[in-house]
Amino acid sequence: MKLDKLIAWLREADAASLETLWREADSARDRHVGGQVHLRGLVEISNHCRRSCAYCGLRHANAKVRRYRMSPAEILAAAKTAVGLGYGTVVLQAGEDEALTAPLVAEVIRQIKSGAHTGNLAVTLSLGERTEDELALWKDAGADRYLLRFETSNKTLFKRIHPPLPGRNCRRIDILRVLRDLGYETGSGIMVGIPGQTYEDLARDLATFVELDLDMIGLGPYVPHADTPLANAAPAEKDQTPNDGLMACKVVALTRLVCPDTNIPATTALSALDPISGYEGALTRGANVVMPNLTPTRYRRFYDIYPMDRGGCGGPVTFNKKIRARIAAIGRTTATGRGDSPHYLNRTGVLRVGQRPVGGVVA
Ligand code: SAH
Repeated sequence: MKLDKLIAWLREADAASLETLWREADSARDRHVGGQVHLRGLVEISNHCRRSCAYCGLRHANAKVRRYRMSPAEILAAAKTAVGLGYGTVVLQAGEDEALTAPLVAEVIRQIKSGAHTGNLAVTLSLGERTEDELALWKDAGADRYLLRFETSNKTLFKRIHPPLPGRNCRRIDILRVLRDLGYETGSGIMVGIPGQTYEDLARDLATFVELDLDMIGLGPYVPHADTPLANAAPAEKDQTPNDGLMACKVVALTRLVCPDTNIPATTALSALDPISGYEGALTRGANVVMPNLTPTRYRRFYDIYPMDRGGCGGPVTFNKKIRARIAAIGRTTATGRGDSPHYLNRTGVLRVGQRPVGGVVA
C-alpha cells in the first residue's frame, strides 16, 4: 500500500468505509495466521531503568516509583504458572536494568529451557537496548524471540522522547537488524498518538514495519503518565494523531494488511483505554495474540509505565478464565503450543514437528 493510501485510511472517519477496513483486516488475519489466539504469559521482571524516556513512568528520574527486581526463583515460578495456565510462551520484560546482567539473564533462560515443567516454553525477551554480545549470549542460552519497539520512525520525534545515554547513539533499528541476524524471531512496534506524531509519521511507521520484515508487531495508544515530561508537552499541532482506541485499531488493521503473516498482539495499552472491548476490538480487526500478565501481584502496580488499573483484572487464574471466555465469545479458539510467527517460519523455512503451515506458504 502506498503512503497516500495509508494516510487516507488513517484519516478515514466514515463508519461504513471503516467496516470495510475491519473486514479486510479480519479476513487477512484468518487467511494468513488462522483463527487461533495465542496467549503469552507476560512477566515484568524489573522496573529499574537507567533511561530517561519522556513517555515512560519507569524513567530513571521518576523518584515516585518503588523499584523492584524479581529473583531468578520468582521468575521461574512465574514461568511454571504460564505452563499451568496452558500458555506456550513466557515474555520477560523490564526497564533497562543493568543489574539484570547478561550472565544472570542467560542462567534464567537456561533454567526455564531445561526445567521439567517449563522446557517447552518459548522465551521472549523485552529488556531494552542491549549489546550484540549480550543478545548473542541470550540466544545461545535458548531465547527465542526479542521485542524492541522503534516507537516512531520520525527520527527527530524519537530523539526528543527517547534521549540516548550520554555519549551514545540510540540505534533501535540497528539492534533490530542484529536480532534478526542472530536468529531471533524479531518484534517491534510503535505508540500511536505520541504528542508531535503526524498522520504521515504513522504511515511511515507502517512502511517501516514492511521494510524491517518483522515477525511480530506490537502497538498501542500512547497513554500520558503525569510524572513524565511528555504528559506536559505543548498542545498538539493540527496534524497530530489522536491517542485513542479507534486510531490504534486502524493501525492494527493496516499492519495486518501490509504485514499479513506476522503475529500482532491486542496490547494491554489498548485494553487499558477500553477495558470492555479493548481486546475484542483489536482481535476482530487483525490481532491474533493476547499477553496475560503473570507478574506477581505484589509487584504489579509498580510496573507503572503508564496509568491503568493494574489490580482490576484479578490474579492470573481469574484473568485466564475471563480472557478465554471473551475469546470464545467472539467465535475464536485459544491455541496451545509456542505459537511462532508464521512470518518467521516462512522466512526461515523452519516448520517444527507437528506444525502445519499457515496461509498456504509451505517452507
Ligand atoms: N524497557 C523496554 C520495555 C519497555 S515497556 C524497552 O524500552 O523496550 C514496553 C513498551 O511500552 C515500550 O516499548 C513503549 O512502546 C510502551 N510504553 C511505554 N510508556 C508508554 C506510555 N506512556 N503509553 C503507552 N505505551 C507506553
